[in-house]
Amino acid sequence: MDAKLFDNSHTIRASLLSGVSLFLTGMSAFFALFYMIKLNSFTSGFVEVLFCCYSARIYYLSKKNQHRDRDVRNFVYLIVLLITYGNASLPLANYNLLWTTLCPLLMYALLGRKHGLYASITILILQLGILSYRSFNSNEISLINLLINMISSYATVWLISHIYEGNRRDVEQTLSSLASRDALTSTHNRLALTTAFGHFERHRHEEQLSLLIIDLDFFKSINDRYGHDVGDKVLIETSQLIMQVVGDDNLFRIGGEEFCVTLFNHSIAQAEKVGERIRNLVATNPYVYNDNHIHLTLSVGICEYQTGYHLGDLLRMADKELYRAKESGRNQVRLCPATPQDAELETDVVQQKAQN
Ligand code: GH3
Ligand code: MG
Ligand code: MG
Repeated sequence: MDAKLFDNSHTIRASLLSGVSLFLTGMSAFFALFYMIKLNSFTSGFVEVLFCCYSARIYYLSKKNQHRDRDVRNFVYLIVLLITYGNASLPLANYNLLWTTLCPLLMYALLGRKHGLYASITILILQLGILSYRSFNSNEISLINLLINMISSYATVWLISHIYEGNRRDVEQTLSSLASRDALTSTHNRLALTTAFGHFERHRHEEQLSLLIIDLDFFKSINDRYGHDVGDKVLIETSQLIMQVVGDDNLFRIGGEEFCVTLFNHSIAQAEKVGERIRNLVATNPYVYNDNHIHLTLSVGICEYQTGYHLGDLLRMADKELYRAKESGRNQVRLCPATPQDAELETDVVQQKAQN
């Protein structure tokens, strides 16, 4: 989920893709003219014209951020095909093969480490085959010198690309984790919740969303009685219990002893069952620290997403129900009323209870 939330690789690759595609649009236009006018090679010129048009399309898509992974892969493999075609057909003295050494750099930058590795291996095998075949059949150039130069320069660029991309990915994962997770419980934090909700709003693959706010009951007294360290352990254990029910992706720590749970494709009735499971699990869990047996309960407020709601609306509404759960004695799950009329009715009942 961290990767989904803070996908910097996608952003970096999008800007790299637009830069490379723009550059190659210009380059292929130049080479098209060069092949046709200078070398009288119309087939090569025509291939370059086709590639120029395709590059321009990729540039347009990447600029509008409408490119898919498939577009990137097709574009990269088309470049490989073009370089292979050049190495197979043009005179070796044209130094077309210098472009081959740039391939690993491009593959790793645009496809990532795994696909970059596969693509780099494929290209090396392909180019070595072509060069060996051509060198055997011509006396243009010495095979052994060519192979030594080609393999050493390719391997150097490949090694640098592999190490660099690996480190870049590790650093990105560490930063994403630091930005999106809570240091104490390792659950996702409020920033991650905002990002996850933004993702839901933009894509709406899931139709429904129910949101739970969970607050531990009388948690301050645990700190006061057993110490802050024990309080921390209780928080960690409780978050693990909730995670057992809803999974890591759906749990967010949004305050000191307050958690939020997102349940996609869950109606409010289904969310209530999940809330009850969490409540029951925590209430019956034996918390034991330094021979101290701690009994903990929690209260839950739940509401359901309706079109047009912002995250703030959902949190406010669920929080209202949480407050009511606290008011009504804690250790319980409360649902947002389905309609505004129901909400008014409920408010009246609560006010009457408070007056009595
Ligand atoms: P209620 O049932 O009304 O929610 O009572 P409560 O005592 O849980 O609520 P209150 O908001 O008064 O207290 C929350 C406490 O949570 C206060 C604070 O000391 C404690 N707390 C907040 N963050 C942490 C934390 O990271 N570690 C520990 N150990 N305690 C924390
Ligand atoms: Mg509390
Ligand atoms: Mg609280």
